[in-house]
Amino acid sequence: MKILLVDDSKAVAMMTTARLESFGYEVTHAADGPAAIKHFQHTRFDLILMDIEMPGMNGFETTTRIRALEGHEPWAWTPIIFVTATDTATNVVTAIEAGGDDFISKMAPESVLQAKMKAMSRIAAMRARLAQANTKLQDQANRDGLTGLLNRRALDMRIDQLWDDATRTAKPFSILMIDVDNFKKYNDHYGHLGGDDCLRAIAHSLGKTVQETKDDKVASGAFVARYGGEEFCVVIPETSHGVHFGLAATLVENIAALQLPHKENTHWGVVTISVGAVCAVPASGQVGSLFRQADTLLYRAKEAGRNRVEAE
Ligand code: GH3
Ligand code: MG
Ligand code: MG
Ligand code: MG
Repeated sequence: MKILLVDDSKAVAMMTTARLESFGYEVTHAADGPAAIKHFQHTRFDLILMDIEMPGMNGFETTTRIRALEGHEPWAWTPIIFVTATDTATNVVTAIEAGGDDFISKMAPESVLQAKMKAMSRIAAMRARLAQANTKLQDQANRDGLTGLLNRRALDMRIDQLWDDATRTAKPFSILMIDVDNFKKYNDHYGHLGGDDCLRAIAHSLGKTVQETKDDKVASGAFVARYGGEEFCVVIPETSHGVHFGLAATLVENIAALQLPHKENTHWGVVTISVGAVCAVPASGQVGSLFRQADTLLYRAKEAGRNRVEAE
């Protein structure tokens, strides 16, 4: 358990630190309110022990400021125990009002301090579990269940931010719209479950190709998402002209190279994809118009015979 000990008295701090360390806790000392806030901004603590009387910013004010820095999520909350020489009724009330969670006298016997620590460790452990569950849930909400790729929701959220950045930096931005060729026929011939397996294999190949491009530092910010159904989307923020065509061509090549049988896919005989790839420097346009452009190019790739890229 990581503890932030806030106390202006060096002697008290040294003594308390020694006691806490003997219980096995990791202690960071802050000699005043501003120092405590600075530590809090850089490190995540499981507990804060807060002195009340300190010159300048007192413990109540420091606590109020720390609480304001925390988000509203329950996992962002850090328990704060006030430690003071004068545990008057007014102090207790003010401590709780300021956002404190408990109160302990400097005169309290060691066993009481230890018991309070134990209670707080339990809360800290619960908080860690909650944070873990939350991270997992958030990840699940952003992933497509079938392929494990980012889903449409995650794509929409990311793209708005990236587009804003690209507008500011005026760097070229690329979108690749990918659609599986004659996939309806694939389902008709191999069944829907076979179709699902096929989509998983395609998603895996797309992800691998994008990752390899990133490893080569060609399109370091690129990512792939499942746009919906048998459509996928690759975004390359901060790119340069030409990169999008190269990556799109490799994606097409690598899918055909999987040699997944698809008897009904015209004369190819294997699963193939078509790609519409655009690259533009964001000016006044909306990102939506770039998607429409990619879609038009994708349509053109289909018209031109499939298993190919149309790029602009
Ligand atoms: P085109 O080459 O012009 O793209 O032809 P297509 O048959 O691929 O195009 P269309 O959009 O008509 O068909 C898409 C098919 O993809 C229809 C739908 O049943 C199938 N599909 C969409 N999502 C899934 C999925 O999650 N699993 C499976 N197995 N099939 C899906
Ligand atoms: Mg003091
Ligand atoms: Mg489609
Ligand atoms: Mg299709």
